[in-house]
Amino acid sequence: MSDLAYQNEREIAIAATLAAAQLCETVRAEQLANAVDKPDASPVTIADYGSQALICRALAEAFPQDPVVGEEDAMLLQSQGDLLGNVVQMVERFIADATEAEVLDWVGRGKGEISNRFWTLDPIDGTKGYVRGDQYAIALALIENGQVQLGVVVCPAFPLDDATTDMLPGTVFVAVRGQGAQMLSLDLQQSRPLQVNGEAQRESFRLIQSVVAAHGTPEEQLAAAQAVGITTEPLSMDSLGKYGAIARGDADLYLRLPSASSTHRCENIWDHAAGAIVLEEAGGRVSDRHGKPLDFTNGIKMTGNVGIVASNGLLHDAVIEALGTSAAG
Ligand code: AMP
Ligand code: MG
Repeated sequence: MSDLAYQNEREIAIAATLAAAQLCETVRAEQLANAVDKPDASPVTIADYGSQALICRALAEAFPQDPVVGEEDAMLLQSQGDLLGNVVQMVERFIADATEAEVLDWVGRGKGEISNRFWTLDPIDGTKGYVRGDQYAIALALIENGQVQLGVVVCPAFPLDDATTDMLPGTVFVAVRGQGAQMLSLDLQQSRPLQVNGEAQRESFRLIQSVVAAHGTPEEQLAAAQAVGITTEPLSMDSLGKYGAIARGDADLYLRLPSASSTHRCENIWDHAAGAIVLEEAGGRVSDRHGKPLDFTNGIKMTGNVGIVASNGLLHDAVIEALGTSAAG
């Protein structure tokens, strides 16, 4: 057995998120990914609940003391009669004889409290992309004493690289604090270290942002990127796979700047924790728009931060400076 820290957690987190990815891909392949609106008008599908059930079950088995702070809500699922039946049927394909009560219990384990050691889970980040047939991610992070120690981001539709056409698409981004970051193929047979772009690529540095314009302020984001010398067309991608894209050098700067009038001024911890450690361990930097480190200790919402700036590191200080002189914030 390796004496590196968090190896057991890493292995279990990868296995759990990969099983969830298989469920998500099954739902998508069978065209069952119809979205239902939650009370906050965000979409949810069979796969969001199924993914949370599988991952929370695996964590409960391996780490029964660890709370999980996840996105989906078992009470809401219970009130969504038709959806619940379909979720149970889908989970049964992965866990024989799973009952409705068990599925509700597993999903409900995602209502844990933030504590000294807890997991945070987004069973499908980028549900809009998932339903559209684009990118999405399953994100799981372990947070201890306010610091992310482990992050796994599975992007089932993000090719490991363009050259390998004969293998399953899909990438697992993984990082443990102090141990670097890697990307793995979904069958775990291939592994590469992750490293952000360096000076040599400066001419082709790229901005990456959400596909959904309302999740940020595209004009302000573009202006800040231009202010630090980025001239290429921005990339758009759903989910926190954007952190992975920078970690592997496909992009260099991710800006997520809320508008002053946004009802979503504060980000959710599960939308950033796993991606942030992957990028930091690949040599990048992550902060809010004022340069403040991301704070995962205030609850589900990151009330101590405004916006997200994630970069290859080289651009970071200049971007914070450019944002400091712009109007919003
Ligand atoms: P993305 O795929 O980067 O567009 O982000 C998806 C995430 O955006 C979801 O997980 C939501 O939590 C989050 N989200 C929903 N509405 C908003 C909003 N108005 N502003 C910022 N983020 C949002
Ligand atoms: Mg999300």
